[in-house]
Amino acid sequence: MSEHSKLSPSSSDRWLACPASIVRAPETEDEGSEYAHEGTAAHALAERCLNLGIDAHLAVFPPDHVAYDSADMRANVQVYLDYVRNQMTEGATLFVEQRLQIFGQYEVWGTADAVIVTADGVIKIIDLKFGKGILVEAEDNTQLLLYGVGGLSFDWLSPVPVHTVEAHIVQPRRSNYPSQSYPVADLAAWVQENTHKVARAFNGTDEANPGLHCKWCPIKGTCRERADMNLKMASFDFAAADAVCPKHDEMREEELVKVFGAIPMIRGYLDDVEAEMAKRAHDHPVSGLKWIAGRAVRKVVEIAKAAMKLRAAGIEPFSEPKLLGITELEKQIKAKGLKVNDLIGDCIEKVAGNPVLVVESHKSPAVSPEQNAADAFK
Ligand code: SF4
Repeated sequence: MSEHSKLSPSSSDRWLACPASIVRAPETEDEGSEYAHEGTAAHALAERCLNLGIDAHLAVFPPDHVAYDSADMRANVQVYLDYVRNQMTEGATLFVEQRLQIFGQYEVWGTADAVIVTADGVIKIIDLKFGKGILVEAEDNTQLLLYGVGGLSFDWLSPVPVHTVEAHIVQPRRSNYPSQSYPVADLAAWVQENTHKVARAFNGTDEANPGLHCKWCPIKGTCRERADMNLKMASFDFAAADAVCPKHDEMREEELVKVFGAIPMIRGYLDDVEAEMAKRAHDHPVSGLKWIAGRAVRKVVEIAKAAMKLRAAGIEPFSEPKLLGITELEKQIKAKGLKVNDLIGDCIEKVAGNPVLVVESHKSPAVSPEQNAADAFK
């Protein structure tokens, strides 16, 4: 896992759009963090189990990573193992920890945790994401697309011509299993259209192109082009609109829609600048900034004594026991080697959240703001 590609699939959303991000912040692998070590341990356990054809609770934990051995890790790795095994169809062949050549001449490659070549012309690439911080989504995910392209390098192992490549992500700690299916012709067309973007990132083109992808950039808090774009956007030139607006002191609805549409981009930028300045101010005094005490909050520290006095005054100090959230329940159920659906599947219902206001171009279908949750989900 120590070797990594110059242009990694996981950050392709950024470098395909903005080649300057590679020049200004060359990719480095996060090898030192606790999360990275934990992820490496999970991959090592998963690899061993797939190679030996055994379940996670039966495996001798890979000796180099034994510090991460836990029931929780084994339960989450088992979710991945089950997923991979469920993808095996009659006559399919499984390959574990395979290098995917994606754009070999531009050093774009990745490691597929599992590759399945089916007997009927489908190649499945399955990637285990052990982290839980960032939810990996399937739609518009260039990482999955690149895995799809990389999957084509296994076509020679297929007994019949390959017609489809599937890319699957298994993120057990978020119960997240996105996948995409790509006809080979679509992948070929994508490669044709996008090779120049890969080439310019590889060649070190210092051409900055800010956008939503900046949130994944190592220099997101200090990039000048990103600042220019966001600050220009925030200045909203409404002079032309004034000419037709009878009330100069009141913004028109279409102007407010424009401001609303810019919220995610500007908010993200401001958050990143705030984080950057906080980091610097921790490191050294920054002229023009200072730290002040945060708002004090009251907190009961002598709980038993306070409870006794409250009860004496006729007040019950503790609330009713509350059911744990579904993610925590899932974690605890899996840690016992059980499955959520087997244990409490008949008690669970998927309920949609309240309607969310977004700009019209958003890909989700429109619903009525009054629509109740069950209807919205249907
Ligand atoms: S912050 Fe955005 S525009 Fe600037 S280098 Fe990074 S990805 Fe490119």
